[in-house]
Amino acid sequence: MNKLATALTVSGRKLPYVITDNPPRGGMKYTYFSPDKKYVIQFYNNPSDADLSIRSRLEAIIGKYNPTKSHKQGGAVGVDEKLAGYFSKRYCWPVDIVVQPEFGIVSPCYPSNFFFNQNSSRFLNLDGKDKKSNWFTSSNRRFLDKSELGDLRMWIQMSVLLARSVRRLHQAGLAHSDLSNNNVLIDPRTGNCIVIDIDSLVVPGIYPPEVAGTRGYIAPEVLATMELPRRDPRRVIPGSKTDLHALAVLIYEYLFFRNPLSGPKIFSSVSAEEDDFLGFGEKALFIEHPTDRSNRPRDLFPTVDDYGEILKNLFHRAFVEGLHNPELRPSALEWERGLTRTRDRLMMCQNPDCVYGWFIPKDFTNPVCPFCKTNGDRRSVIKFDFYTEVKGHPGQWRKYSEMTAAKDTPLFLWHIRPNVYADEKTDSDIMAYTAFTQNKWYLINNKIEGLISPKGSDVPFGTAFQMEDGDIFKTAQTGGIIIEVRL
Ligand SMILES: [Zn+2]
Repeated sequence: MNKLATALTVSGRKLPYVITDNPPRGGMKYTYFSPDKKYVIQFYNNPSDADLSIRSRLEAIIGKYNPTKSHKQGGAVGVDEKLAGYFSKRYCWPVDIVVQPEFGIVSPCYPSNFFFNQNSSRFLNLDGKDKKSNWFTSSNRRFLDKSELGDLRMWIQMSVLLARSVRRLHQAGLAHSDLSNNNVLIDPRTGNCIVIDIDSLVVPGIYPPEVAGTRGYIAPEVLATMELPRRDPRRVIPGSKTDLHALAVLIYEYLFFRNPLSGPKIFSSVSAEEDDFLGFGEKALFIEHPTDRSNRPRDLFPTVDDYGEILKNLFHRAFVEGLHNPELRPSALEWERGLTRTRDRLMMCQNPDCVYGWFIPKDFTNPVCPFCKTNGDRRSVIKFDFYTEVKGHPGQWRKYSEMTAAKDTPLFLWHIRPNVYADEKTDSDIMAYTAFTQNKWYLINNKIEGLISPKGSDVPFGTAFQMEDGDIFKTAQTGGIIIEVRL
């Protein structure tokens, strides 16, 4: 029978929670919910695991490293109310430490969009289960209702947010240490994700947690050195570089629904364990390796070639150059920027049954969806090329970005400023947007200062300017840019 109990926190709060017979249990902790299901109280399976280093780590995570709490409220330096609100949606960050009846942590409950409901599957009863990535990135997909699956635009959006969450941790000197399909919940319908199990973060100056990682996400160098004694200097323990391997694996899985290292190659005929140990460790080999095709599944489709040059390069750096050389892995910031630029290039597929729904056109004059081979509707989009003046070479322009725009597409601050990038601070400022009416394309200036039309006149805020093929808009301020239009 369920019983109400009270937890006393280190901050002096008394929080009620409901004791159930079979609480959800993970590798380290088990979970009880508050009566209103707004927060959870978690206790350790083995209370002796909750040693001093866990306590000091948790205090740092909840306090000075906390991006979900403003600096004024005791959170991380540089975080204001708005940023704290933003990052509260990106992580399920612990909020307090329980001291009685025993040591534990308090965390918010996941938002409701990260739980399946009764319409999520016709085959399985998933009502109330959390949306672990694995449901979407494996053959389990086939059990889910189409409405849960999202499309390529949402998968890229999810990946941008995950890269941003990891980048924010790394920027503060933290590392997650156990990123995996279990510790990231995703909602492909809305392009959202949330990072959970924050309590095993690697915190500067505090003894690292005893986690190795999860099969399929663990970095090869960690697996390969795992059997060495804990204090052996050759043993690699999880940190930001191993997070970057797991991040790349997760992004690859969101876009391809398969693991980048699981191929047909047999690494050991001694045992399945030995085969796994080598295939994800010392001998790990990207299934899309450009020259060594020994781990490549037959009829592999789609491949990194179908996702545009930017992502192809990032995946190659992660799984070819950087697989056994952690220093060469792309940073979370590079993923965040590369994914954002790829998102800008997406074009909608005309085929209503296309699983991907969107694609990155290889040839803008004759776009074809690589996934279902349907021709793109060239008249439904225009292209913007963004140029900035080369420093010290007046009159010379360098393209820094491009964009495929449909009607009602917003231009954000990071499009029109070459030195500004899409992040938690610039995501919502609409500077201009496109409109398409009576077969004519328009650019509406929302708040680009000093925007000059191709004919040389000012385009004041709130006015619409009709665009023709080859038009060039400029901005007047120093460090200005030009925007070239392709209809
Ligand atoms: Zn298609």
